[in-house]
Amino acid sequence: MSKSNGFDTNSIHAGEPKPRIKGAITLPIFQSATYDHDEDLKYDDIKYMRLSNTPNHEALNKKLAILENGEEGFVGASGMASISATLISCLEKGDHVLLQNGIYGGTYGLVTQHFPAMGIDFDFIDATNKNQWSSKLKPKTKAIYVETISNPLLEIPDLRAVVEFAKANRLMSIIDNTFASPVNFRPIEVGFDLVVHSATKYLNGHSDIVAGVVVGRKSQIQKIAKKQKYFGGSLDAHACFLLQRGLKTLGVRMRYQNESALKIAQHLEKHSEISKVHYPGLKSHAQHSRAQELFSGFGGMISFRVKDPSQKAQSLLKKLELIAHAPSLGGVESLITRPAHSSHGNLSKEDKEKTGITDDLFRLSVGLETTSDLVAELDSALS
Ligand SMILES: *Cc1c(COP(=O)(O)O)cnc(C)c1O
Repeated sequence: MSKSNGFDTNSIHAGEPKPRIKGAITLPIFQSATYDHDEDLKYDDIKYMRLSNTPNHEALNKKLAILENGEEGFVGASGMASISATLISCLEKGDHVLLQNGIYGGTYGLVTQHFPAMGIDFDFIDATNKNQWSSKLKPKTKAIYVETISNPLLEIPDLRAVVEFAKANRLMSIIDNTFASPVNFRPIEVGFDLVVHSATKYLNGHSDIVAGVVVGRKSQIQKIAKKQKYFGGSLDAHACFLLQRGLKTLGVRMRYQNESALKIAQHLEKHSEISKVHYPGLKSHAQHSRAQELFSGFGGMISFRVKDPSQKAQSLLKKLELIAHAPSLGGVESLITRPAHSSHGNLSKEDKEKTGITDDLFRLSVGLETTSDLVAELDSALS
């Protein structure tokens, strides 16, 4: 499959077995843990589901690598399986890593609760302000880790500066591209070394599996794969099949979600009950011009603040019917959360004030419903 084909062609055809297996248009599920094997195979050549080398894994790894425009991809049992395998293969005892403030809670927990016992040192940085990074460097700093679009305030780090800083200081640059998806942004094209995803979200798009992936240079991915094979976070063949099916519509879904979310964000920004809308596609967003320069769409995530949370917040959630009150994102169903009461519920009152994750804030993952129905439902719930 050629890299010169368009994104949508690749999302459907890249990595698929040629010739087709028994003529099947969709790659069947190889629900077999183990495979026939020759007498003198090496351990790495054994076909076994934990080693992520069944036909389902191989097709998926190739498709994901091409969609992110990287050399090689490797799927994992969840976003966190891929993120943890990636971080621990770049960092050894005594090493130091810089991470963006406010990263995904699971990644934050992995680093703050488990890295100390592993002897890995870390510091957090304001990834939107490159002038502050040098002072946090240490002789053993090995990597810098950011997210394309932060959660829940949808800030966009100075991504080009992260790449330059990493190159100048010989750091591995790692980015969690979950919120943008490769439809809107392909970090490897601007120089990032490794891209990770929670494939649970946009890549699969149907809120029916958890999965992860890492894409990058072959030598690096092989190191990560080795860790994951021993730590055991491999994706089941049936989940591989579902992710592969989800990927085929990624471009169509994401472009619709870009368009729908922009319309909803513009509508909410004019709403009398709303005090602020955070969406990279709005001119009022602090990094709007950066988003315009780097991304081909602004994504399906919107955060907004209601004027009178003590009166409005509970009733807003109760009145919504199409939009489900649930964590996670990136699926066909629209979902809403109140971060100060869910993902960021553990923050102290002071930290909530400091980070802006306060009682008035809602985060909306725009699904594939008809935009006017979502707008009408939000209007009636806000009234
Ligand atoms: C959900 C999420 C993860 C974790 O992924 P899982 O599939 O739940 O393990 C990591 N990063 C981001 C940005 C996420 O939204």
